[in-house]
Amino acid sequence: MRKKIVAGNWKMNNDLQESLKLFSEVANMVKDEVSNDAEIIVSAPFTNIYALDQWKNGSDIHDKIKLSGQNCCWEESGAYTGEVSAKMLKSIGAEYVIIGHSERRQYFAETNALLAKKVDLALKHELIPIFCIGETLQEREKNIHLDLIKNQLQEGLFHLIKSVVKTVVIAYEPVWAIGTGLTATPEQAQEIHAFIRQLIVEGYDEETANEVSILYGGSCNPSNAASLFSQKDIDGGLIGGASLKSRDFTDIIKTFN
Ligand code: 13P
Repeated sequence: MRKKIVAGNWKMNNDLQESLKLFSEVANMVKDEVSNDAEIIVSAPFTNIYALDQWKNGSDIHDKIKLSGQNCCWEESGAYTGEVSAKMLKSIGAEYVIIGHSERRQYFAETNALLAKKVDLALKHELIPIFCIGETLQEREKNIHLDLIKNQLQEGLFHLIKSVVKTVVIAYEPVWAIGTGLTATPEQAQEIHAFIRQLIVEGYDEETANEVSILYGGSCNPSNAASLFSQKDIDGGLIGGASLKSRDFTDIIKTFN
């Protein structure tokens, strides 16, 4: 179902104590200062999700902030040393999982075919995939970015049936904007988001396309969030660096107030 969403992706930052500190700061600010119905998600390192869930359950914020993994294995279980399964994530309190982040595609050579398997396992274990797509600067300069985005969606996500695809969250994260301070302009982002929604219309139908939340990610911060999120096809953000500071993250969430 289409929702407004602000998701923080902590990446490989914050040990257990730092995670608890940041999470509780955000939770308290959200409780006191935010009065909207946007879905707030924190995607923490695997090692810290259980403790955050326990903390959450013992506090009065309960379900205000959802937890997410940053990745899961493409196989159900077995001899995959070092991997974490979708079922494991679900069992420790995660409700979402990021799949296909550009850093996974780049450093771990994750392909669309592999990501499609991860999407299936996440859904099987009732985790909502936050499926990431986006082009590098070279791909944009060569003007092949639209084809690339189309392939990422068609090969990674469009095998799902209509009633399932509309439950998935898509995040458009231009690689050239991630951690660089170079944000896509609201117009550039809106153009791609509209393109993505149109691809869903073509692959499924208009009703389905209107149900899918499409987030923007890439150097999103408290100063640019409002102009990005006010675009017609931008339903919120996937926030990296700015989600590591409780004030910045909360200020981004407040743009929906
Ligand atoms: P930054 O907000 O640090 O650019 O990171 C974006 C991102 O990769 C979120 O998944």
